[in-house]
Amino acid sequence: MAPPVILFDRIPDDGLQQELALDETWLTEVFASAGLVAVPGVPGSASIRLDRDGRNVFLSGRFEASAQTDCVACLERMTLALCADLVLHLEPAGSTKPGKVVHEEVELSRDELDVDVYTDDRIDLAHWLREAILLESPLHPRHEVCPVRLEMPAAPPLARVGIDPRLAPLARFFKKE
Ligand SMILES: [Zn+2]
Repeated sequence: MAPPVILFDRIPDDGLQQELALDETWLTEVFASAGLVAVPGVPGSASIRLDRDGRNVFLSGRFEASAQTDCVACLERMTLALCADLVLHLEPAGSTKPGKVVHEEVELSRDELDVDVYTDDRIDLAHWLREAILLESPLHPRHEVCPVRLEMPAAPPLARVGIDPRLAPLARFFKKE
């Protein structure tokens, strides 16, 4: 089950606090686009607070979830603990005031206050949680210290000459010649 949609009118004047379990089925779906899988029997959790400011909504909170994937360095399965704070300013869609820039696409950054829109009075917590989780998902997951070492002597020299480490696996094919 996905995290709920909260209707704007259901947010009390003194705010709404939601404690959510992020179940395996939903996490599996979210993780799929990041190449991760949910850890069986380990649900995630989220604590979300919604506060109204006129027609705007201030969303704040935190999520925690575990994921599994293969380490890019040693190819062993690894478990990642993902967690992050969420801070979002949501404005109703189409509420652009004169002289104000339309937030058509706001780049997400974990350090900045994010501004985005909600539509039809619906604050879809699944949407924001999905974005926050994907933002925390590493593109190239690897152990800090790999439990096993592959024989890949080519890696350090490549790094020295400044070749993108993501291309390093390709170098192995050239080395065979
Ligand atoms: Zn590893």
